[in-house]
Order: sequence, then C-alpha cells, then structure tokens
Amino acid sequence: MPYIIDGKAISAQIKEELKTEVTAMKERGIVPCLAVIQVGNDPASSVYVNNKKKACAYIGIESLAYELDECTTQQELVSLIEELNQNEKVNGILVQLPLPKHIDEDTIIQTISPKKDVDGFHPMSVGNMCIGSKGFLSCTPAGIIQLLKRSGVVIEGKECVIVGRSNIVGKPMALLLLRENGTVTVAHSRTKDLKEITNRADILIVAIGKPKFITADYIKEGAVVIDVGIHRNAENKLCGDVDFEDVKEKVSAITPVPGGVGPMTIAMLMENCVEAVR
Ligand code: NDP
Repeated sequence: MPYIIDGKAISAQIKEELKTEVTAMKERGIVPCLAVIQVGNDPASSVYVNNKKKACAYIGIESLAYELDECTTQQELVSLIEELNQNEKVNGILVQLPLPKHIDEDTIIQTISPKKDVDGFHPMSVGNMCIGSKGFLSCTPAGIIQLLKRSGVVIEGKECVIVGRSNIVGKPMALLLLRENGTVTVAHSRTKDLKEITNRADILIVAIGKPKFITADYIKEGAVVIDVGIHRNAENKLCGDVDFEDVKEKVSAITPVPGGVGPMTIAMLMENCVEAVR
C-alpha cells in the first residue's frame, strides 16, 4: 500500500497552530474578522459557507455572515463589498462562488480590496504570487504545497506535472511549485500524448474535473499523486479525478478523496485570514 497523505490530519494541525496564534492576538486585543457573503441559496455553496464559518469559530476568528437574496443586483453586491473594504474591523472578505448568472464574477473579485482578498483571486494577489512578492496565495494550491511539505515530499528538482490549467487550481499550482524549485509542466485538454507527459512525473497533480480519469497507465512507478477532483458517483459516494484502486499499487504516496486536498482548502483560507491581520 502507498503512503496515504492525510489531508484531514494535516489541516487539523494547521488549524491548531492558527488557534494558538489567534488566542495570542486576542490577548493583545486583536480579533481577526472574516466577512462571508453568499448570494442565493445553492445547497453546495451553503455547505461550503457553513464549513468556513465553523472553521472560523474553532480558530477564534469572528465571522460576519451576509446571506443575500438570489436577485441581489451586481451594484448592490459591489456596494456591500466597498463598505466592507472601508470597515477597519473586517480583515478578510470572501464571496462564495459561483455567483448567479446576472453578476459578473471578475467584477466582484476585482472589487474586493487586495488587502482583504483571502481567497487570493484578485489579479493583484495573482500577480504577487507570480513574481514571488508577499500576498495572499490561492487556497487549494497553497494547501497542496503544505500537504507535500508536511508529508516530507521534496519538491526541489522534481519533475512536477499538473493536469488542468484553471485559474483557481492549475495555473497558481504551477507558480507555487516553481517557487519550490520544481520543474513544472502544465497539461490541458489540448495536450498531445498526455500519458507520455504524466509518465514523466515524480509529482503528479490532477485537477481536470473528470471522475477516475487517471488510471495506472498514466503514472510512473513510485510517483506522488495529488488528486484535486471531487465528484459524487451514482451510489452517492465521493471520488476524485484519479482511479485510486487502479493506481494504489504503483504510487509511493497519494491523497484520498475525501480527506485529501478538500480539508486543506479551508485550512489555507483560515491561514489567509490570520495573515491579513499579521
Ligand atoms: P476546470 O473545469 O476549471 O478546469 C479543468 C481543467 O482540466 C482545464 O484546464 C481543462 O483543459 C483540463 N482538462 C479537461 N479535460 C481534460 C483532459 N481530458 N485531458 C487533459 N486536461 C483536461 O476545473 P477546476 O480546476 O476548477 O477543478 C478541477 C477539479 O477539482 C473539479 O473536480 C473540482 O470540483 C475540483 N476542485 C476541488 C477543490 C478542493 O478543494 N478539493 C477546489 C477546486 C476544485 P482546458 O483548459 O483545455 O479546457
């Protein structure tokens, strides 16, 4: 059996470290505060928002919940964000995506002050990440770096292959692996001979959004595999983009779904909230 990279345990460890830091902040009279905005009541978004609020409560971060009606206008949402940008008590602003179709996500992301952009989606945050300046890191890729480091996986000098080039996972993942001195290749739907490329990977990160797409023939013997995908199958069970059962004898370490990358995304959001105060 491969080494199972336990995202639940690692995220719990990070949350514990943050709780200690926030307790010390509170002793100095500083209470970190995150504003969480949800527009409409999409059930999946409600689950994510609740999990974020619970994590805040555990660590000691105050959370302000804004549950807006589905027909909230773009201008109303922009006005609320501008008000929160000015509110000195608020350290971080999170707008749960996706937004209803009549609201332009890019406009909303760009309205959030880069100083409070705890999701790390603002072009300023992305630019800082690109040139290696201080700034908020995208939560899922930053969580993957923590998973690798805290599991003792060396990134420096390794062949790292990312399958998927989305703005929230694939592209920022490439930047963060480069920062760690990995040799990075990014593959996508137009890549020719994907198997040949993934078979070079010492570290393979998969974020394509297709259940069990990556099978043993895509993987080099002994590779470390990080599965970002998350899907619910016909029996209502969760699975990833990697066929875990098929690849498990070939890899040296792998993240499970659930319990791998998922818990890390929230842990890194909490890290960004504390960073906003620091
Ligand atoms: P997107 O749909 O935005 O991007 C998918 C990427 O995969 C695209 O770049 C696409 O290429 C590429 N792709 C699609 N099919 C293939 C293929 N056959 N071969 C090679 N590349 C392909 O997805 P996200 O990045 O947002 O998410 C990916 C998965 O990760 C989803 O299952 C999502 O639910 C999950 N996720 C999990 C998170 C967590 O916290 N655990 C957080 C974020 C996402 P192209 O650009 O050419 O179209």
